Amino acid sequence: MRITALAGGIGGARFLRGVLAAAPDAEVTVIGNTGDDIWVHGLRVCPDLDTVMYTLGGGISAERGWGREGETFTVKDELAAYGVEPTWFGLGDKDIATHLIRTQSMQAGFSLTEITAALCERWQPGVRLLPMSDDRAETNVIVDDPSGATDDSGRALRIAIHFQEWWIKYRALVPAHGFVLVGVEQARPAPGVIQAIEQADVVLLPPSNPVVSIGTILQVPGIADALRSTSAPVVGLSPIVGGAPVRGMADACLTAIGLDTTALAVAAHYGARSARGSGNSGGIHHGASDHGLIDGWLVDTTDAGSVPAIEALGIRCRAVPLMMTDLEATRVMAVDALSLANRP
Ligand code: GDP
Ligand code: CA
Repeated sequence: MRITALAGGIGGARFLRGVLAAAPDAEVTVIGNTGDDIWVHGLRVCPDLDTVMYTLGGGISAERGWGREGETFTVKDELAAYGVEPTWFGLGDKDIATHLIRTQSMQAGFSLTEITAALCERWQPGVRLLPMSDDRAETNVIVDDPSGATDDSGRALRIAIHFQEWWIKYRALVPAHGFVLVGVEQARPAPGVIQAIEQADVVLLPPSNPVVSIGTILQVPGIADALRSTSAPVVGLSPIVGGAPVRGMADACLTAIGLDTTALAVAAHYGARSARGSGNSGGIHHGASDHGLIDGWLVDTTDAGSVPAIEALGIRCRAVPLMMTDLEATRVMAVDALSLANRP
C-alpha cells in the first residue's frame, strides 16, 4: 500500500509514527511544509522537515516535541552574549550540525530534496520525506507593527514579519491580519510530490495546523489540484478537539483567516471533493476547480455532535478518539483513518 501524507511539524510527525505502526509494510511518502523555513545566523533551518525526521528517526526531544533529545544551547547563548539577533530562535548545538550540513550542501548546489534525503540516511525515518518545494517560499504574517508605529493619519502601520518571529517571539499573541506565502507563485512542487499524490492508494492529512502547515503546502501550485484529481481517497484528521487546538496556537491562525476554531470549520475549509463550490475560504482553492479536497474527516469523540453537519457537506465523517497521548492511541487513529478511506 502506498500512503502519502502532507505534514507540518509536531502534529504531523507524531501522527506519522502512528501510521508506521498501523501499516508497517506500507510505502509512506511525506510531503513536508517548508513555509516555516528561515535563515538564522547564516544557517538554513527547516523546522518542520527536521521535526518529522527527528521524530521518526528517534532523535526528537520528547519533552519539547521539537529539536534534539539531550540538547544544549551553548552556541545560542554565546550569540546572545554578543547581542546578535534573533535571540528568540531555539537553535540547539546538536541541531546546528544538521543546519550546517544543509547550508553547505545548498551552497554546493544541491536541492532541498537531495539534502533532505541525505540527512535522512542517518535518521532512517522509515518514510520518504520530500519538501513541498525546492524553491524558497516563506510564510509571512501581516500584523500591526508591534513597536506601535503609526502612519500619518494615526493608523497602526501594518508590516509583514516572518512566521517564526510571530510564532516564537510573539507567541502568536499579536493578532494576525493574514498570512502571505512569499514566493509561492514561482514555487514548483518538489520532484516526486505530484506523483506521490497521484499514485497513492490513500492520501492522509494529519492533524497538522490547517492554515500554516497543511494550508501552506496546498498553496504550492499544483498540489491542491493533485489532491482533487487523484484516484486515491483523501482523509483528514481534525487538529481541533473540543473547540481548541490540542497544543500550540492554531486558533490564532484560524481566527486570522476568519474561521471558527472547530473541527467542523476546518472540515468545511478543506471542503468535500465530491461537492463543487465547497470550501472556498482561505485561499487554498485557487486553481482549476473549486472542488474541495477531502473525502473523509475524523473528529474527536468530543465533537461527535458535528458529524451530521460534516456529512451534510458531502464528507464521510466518524468520531473517534483523536488525542495522541501515546503511540498506541496514535496507531489506532491511523487505523481509523485508513478504514474511513477504504469505506465504500
Ligand atoms: P507544527 O508545525 O509543529 O506546529 O505542527 P503541525 O502543524 O504538524 O501540528 C500542529 C497541530 O497539531 C496543532 O495545531 C494541534 O491542533 C494539533 N495537535 C497536536 N497534538 C494533537 C493531538 O494529540 N490530537 C490532535 N487531534 N491534534 C493535535
Ligand atoms: Ca511548523
